[in-house]
Amino acid sequence: LVSSDGDRVQIQVGKATFGAGEPVFAAGPCTVEEPEVLVEVARGAAAAGATLLRGGAFKPTTSPYSFRGHGEVALKALREAADEADMGVVTEVLGTSQVSLVANYADMLQIGARNMQNFELLREAGRQPKPILLKRGLASTIDEWLCSAEYIAAEGNEQVVLCERGIRTFETATRATFDVASIPVLRLRSNLPVIVDPSHSSGDRRLVPHIALAAIAAGCDGLLIEVHPRPEQSLKDGRQTISTEELQKLVAAARRVAEAVNGVPLPR
Ligand code: PEP
Ligand code: MN
Repeated sequence: LVSSDGDRVQIQVGKATFGAGEPVFAAGPCTVEEPEVLVEVARGAAAAGATLLRGGAFKPTTSPYSFRGHGEVALKALREAADEADMGVVTEVLGTSQVSLVANYADMLQIGARNMQNFELLREAGRQPKPILLKRGLASTIDEWLCSAEYIAAEGNEQVVLCERGIRTFETATRATFDVASIPVLRLRSNLPVIVDPSHSSGDRRLVPHIALAAIAAGCDGLLIEVHPRPEQSLKDGRQTISTEELQKLVAAARRVAEAVNGVPLPR
């Protein structure tokens, strides 16, 4: 099912269409915070050009003692803030038992890097109709990633958007190593839309715009970016979070780059 035969897949999530030529911007805090802060983020992100609101209600955390998210309260807050700003919601689902709960509130379900090969979760996500954002595993090859997309599609849900978020290498200057080549490689191997998360790819807000623009130049279909009105105050991942003003500039620059590379033949 996941192959490069036929036409490129377009995936509609609220007002956003992945794979239609125009980059899609999904933006929001790492983790859902107070409802008022979320409304502020949503308004700012929407004004900057984002059509999807991101934010973790259930967070995968390396340490079991880190904050793991506000759960269903956060899902409700995401829904309300997104509705108010006329946006769609994309948020992570950590396990099979959460799929229907998260699908009740979100327009798109995110399967995070740490769960890319949680095959039971992939199958459960494939048995429900909401589109899936499938992040690349921290140490997964492109073929393994596509096999995971196939798990979802094989259950009947072919609406999968792939998200490059960097991989683990010997390099420690960045949080992950951004694999820019995965964008054209995925274009050769599949018809699914591909987006990039420059926040987790870099771990440093000063690097985010550069990775984001390189991703757009390489032909990706959108960006998933951590944004907060006051990044240094974010509950989680503040170092890699950009401000709403920075998002505004980034979206404008990304549109110019997309326009400039429009017409450069992409691999088939
Ligand atoms: C996230 O986007 O909130 C996240 C946890 O990212 P990743 O799964 O790529 O680490
Ligand atoms: Mn984060």
